[in-house]
Amino acid sequence: ADQGVGSWPRRRARIAPGDTALIYQGEPRSFGELAQRVDRLRQRLAELEVAPGDRVAYLGPNQPAFVEAMFATMAAGAVFVPLNTRLAAPELAHLLRDAQVRAFIWAESHEQTAQAVLEAAPVELRVVAGAGSEAAGYTLEQLVEQGQSGTPEVPVATDDLAMIMYTSGTTGQPRGATLTHANLTWNVFNVLIDVDVSQREVTLVSAPLFHTAALNQTFLPTFIKGGAAVLEAAFDPQRSLHLIAEHRITWMFGVPAMFQALAAAPGWDTADLSSIRAVEAGGAPVPEELIRTYQARGLTFMQGYGMTEASPGVLFLRAGDSLRKVGSAGTPCFFTEVDLIDDAGATTPAGEPGEVVVRGPNVMVGYWRNEAATAAVLDQDGWFRSGDVAVRDDEGHLRIVDRKKDMFISGGENVYPAEVENAIYDHPAVRECAVIGVPDTQWGEVGRAYIVLNDGHQLDHPELAQFLTGRLARYKIPQSLVLLAELPRTASGKLQKQRLRSAGG
Ligand code: ATP
Ligand code: MG
Repeated sequence: ADQGVGSWPRRRARIAPGDTALIYQGEPRSFGELAQRVDRLRQRLAELEVAPGDRVAYLGPNQPAFVEAMFATMAAGAVFVPLNTRLAAPELAHLLRDAQVRAFIWAESHEQTAQAVLEAAPVELRVVAGAGSEAAGYTLEQLVEQGQSGTPEVPVATDDLAMIMYTSGTTGQPRGATLTHANLTWNVFNVLIDVDVSQREVTLVSAPLFHTAALNQTFLPTFIKGGAAVLEAAFDPQRSLHLIAEHRITWMFGVPAMFQALAAAPGWDTADLSSIRAVEAGGAPVPEELIRTYQARGLTFMQGYGMTEASPGVLFLRAGDSLRKVGSAGTPCFFTEVDLIDDAGATTPAGEPGEVVVRGPNVMVGYWRNEAATAAVLDQDGWFRSGDVAVRDDEGHLRIVDRKKDMFISGGENVYPAEVENAIYDHPAVRECAVIGVPDTQWGEVGRAYIVLNDGHQLDHPELAQFLTGRLARYKIPQSLVLLAELPRTASGKLQKQRLRSAGG
């Protein structure tokens, strides 16, 4: 029997074919219709010799074509490789070669990039979702039309690979996390239990589907329950406020930067947000100020912590705890084990920082074709080293401190930038900030703050230093301040501190 993720549209259509699965640009698409199209596409891909285990890459924004290509690829027993649309053509070509893809599907909006990518990394089967392509052999619509429905499915085992998902590349080169159908399914089970997802969900999916949080943590759980996903090709805060009211959105995920933008958008104070039962932030440290802003608006603010390699859920701050535990990233997801360890590998006591290690059925098999990188993070017993530092309180709640890599040492003391940033966010002039360590002859390293100001505000270093005195130990207070119009971010909205560091400060 086929228990793979690719069978979900068919299973959902069997229950309620007429229910809405997707809404894109105001147009609903039902589970029945989607299942039909996925089934035909699956058959046609197989006919074009996309064999079980082959990789199929997809480049494009959140659109129904993304979802169809994904389910059809998996139903064919092949491995879906979602690509980050913000990457440049040479970077994408590198990923296509790395994943050794059999087929490449792109959205017509990315035709130019696709052409440049294919020049550097030729792919046999080329498909455009849309029209007007010189580089493609087929359009996605042709494949759907040519496909036959109801042909026998290939058996898919839950331990087969479902996806190669590249990490965000926040700290360096993206690595391909290999995720099985079982990994994705157990992660979805975690979400269903921890978020209490229901069939009534109308989920706003405006974070990019090529990242783990939007796809595995938000879209797939909504889909398996039979809820509706409102797909947005790009995140626009003002438009999001309208969509929330128009579609009566119940749940949405975003990185903190998205929620900051939403709260700063015109209309925030008056928008009808009454349909939202909870918002969920994750993917990066969440400033407490942001949580309070949402709570002041009457919104339950859940927090998820995880990573691509864990499909991604590791910790969850459930709705019932969100007011009481501001700043906590919660407790382990239902089926997932979490420990905090010191450099010798021993569990750290409550209150002491340690590296987060993760084990469970949602943790990846390894990095794609990279045994050295896999061995560096996964041990014999299946524990995955996250590279993040956290502290456990006496109730078993974890607070994420920061990435180990972002920590710097000033005068022999460890400084975790996220803590400093949290304090800076309390200043009313600050819209966004980032702190890094820079070399210093006296202290080894000292902090430098990069700040984006709120409109009409000013801030200089003496004022910032004075503001932080008493709030933070002296060695944590940044020694310099650089004002910027915006901070460098990844496609998913994460701060790229590497770029601040390499810019020479
Ligand atoms: P790369 O591994 O390529 O450098 P990345 O780690 O940003 O990129 P992702 O897998 O998308 O790639 O992100 C996982 C990381 O995001 C975690 O390891 C952690 O550092 C950070 N993160 C996720 N959720 C939270 C959270 N709630 N609070 C703080 N940090 C978080
Ligand atoms: Mg990472």
